Amino acid sequence: MVLGRERRPPLESVYAGRFDYRLSELIRQRAWVEIDQAALIHNVQQFKAYLKPRTELIAVVKADAYGHGALRVAQTALQAGAQGLAIATLGEGIELREAGITAPILLLGATNTPEEIKALAHWQLQPTLASLAQAQIFAQTLAQLGQSLPVHLKLDTGMSRLGVPWQQAVTFVEQVRQAPQLRVASIYSHLATADDPDPTQMQRQKQYFEWAIAQLRQVYYHPPKLHLANSAGVLNGPEWHYDLVRIGLGLYGLYPAPHLQPVLNLKPVLSVRAKITQVKTIPAGTGVSYGHHFVSDRPMQIAVLGIGYADGVPRNLSNRLSVLLRGQEVQQIGAITMDQMMLDVSQFPDLQPGEVVTLIGQDGHQSISADDWAQTLGTISWEILCSFKHRLPRIAV
Ligand SMILES: *Cc1c(COP(=O)(O)O)cnc(C)c1O
Repeated sequence: MVLGRERRPPLESVYAGRFDYRLSELIRQRAWVEIDQAALIHNVQQFKAYLKPRTELIAVVKADAYGHGALRVAQTALQAGAQGLAIATLGEGIELREAGITAPILLLGATNTPEEIKALAHWQLQPTLASLAQAQIFAQTLAQLGQSLPVHLKLDTGMSRLGVPWQQAVTFVEQVRQAPQLRVASIYSHLATADDPDPTQMQRQKQYFEWAIAQLRQVYYHPPKLHLANSAGVLNGPEWHYDLVRIGLGLYGLYPAPHLQPVLNLKPVLSVRAKITQVKTIPAGTGVSYGHHFVSDRPMQIAVLGIGYADGVPRNLSNRLSVLLRGQEVQQIGAITMDQMMLDVSQFPDLQPGEVVTLIGQDGHQSISADDWAQTLGTISWEILCSFKHRLPRIAV
C-alpha cells in the first residue's frame, strides 16, 4: 500500500505541522482529529475509476484540506493518483511548496499585486486570472521579471464570484494571448447550484460556458483544457467532467447532497475524539456551565469532556449535541465552553476519566457525521470540517 512506503510509525501526529511525531501519545491525552488515510485513498480511487482516463483529478486542499491537514492530504491524494492540487490563497500554496510538494498547484483565489505575482512566479504556483485589469498587471509584472507563468482563465457563467462575464470570453482571451508572459493552461468556470436536484440553473451555466468556448473556436483559438466541476458537478455525470475536475468535499468522504449519494461509495476521512477528564454526580436542581442554560431535573452523573469551541465544536451546538460513548449516544448538556463541555453520563455508573468519546466518526455500530452537525446548525458540512484546524492535533490512522 501507498502508506507502507513511509518509514514512520503509523501513529505519527502533526500538531500544526510542527510538533514531533513522538508526542502523538501525549497529544492523545485530551482531544484530537483522526485522519483515515485508507479512506482518503479509497475516495481518490473511487473518483478516478468514475472519471474518463484522460480527465485529470485536481485535489482541492484549500483551508488546510478542509481541516484535514493540507500537506498530508496533498501527499496522499497525489500518491493515490491525483494529478494536481488546488488551494485558495497564496500562503496555502507557499506552505505546500516549502514542504516539498512539486505537483502543479492551481490557486483558485484572486491575486492582484506585483508582490503577489512575484511570489507566484518564485513558488511556481498557477494563478487564476479573472479580469482584464488583473491580466494586465500580470503581464507587466512578469515582463519586468523576465518570466512567464501558466495561468488559468476564469469565466463567470452564473456564480457571480470571480471571473470575466462569459459573454466577454473572446476579448479576455485575446488580450491574455497577446502577452507572451501568460501561458494559458486552462479555461474554467464554477457551478453555483451543482448540488441542487433541479438541474436547470446548472445546465444554463454549462450552455454559457460552451457558448463562450464555441466563440473562441470561431476565432481559431482552441483552449488547452476546460473545467467546470466541483464534487457535486462530478457526481452529476460524465458530461460535466471535461478535461479536469476540482474535487474537495468528496475526497473527504462527504456528499454535497443526499441525491448524489448513490453515484459513488465514499468514506468519511475525519473523526473527532476527546477524553473524559472528570466524572461527578450532581443533585437535582443544579445548573451546569456558563449561564446555567441546563439545570438537572434529577440527580445526575455528569462528565467533563476536554474539548470545546476553541477546538472547532460550534458553541451553537450547546444542549443540542449528542456524542458517542461505549457505542451509545450520550447528550451534551449546558453551554459548550472554550476548552471543555459537559455530558450526561447517568447511564454509565462505572465511568472513569480517560475514556474516549467520539464527537464525529464511528464508535461500534453508531456513527455521527459532519452532516449531522450541519443539519442541527442549519449550515453545510464544508463549514463544519473547516472549523477543525488550530488546536486539535491530527493523527493519521
Ligand atoms: C472550493 C472549490 C472547489 C471544490 O468544491 P467542493 O464542493 O468541495 O468539491 C472547486 N472549485 C472551486 C473554484 C472552489 O472554490
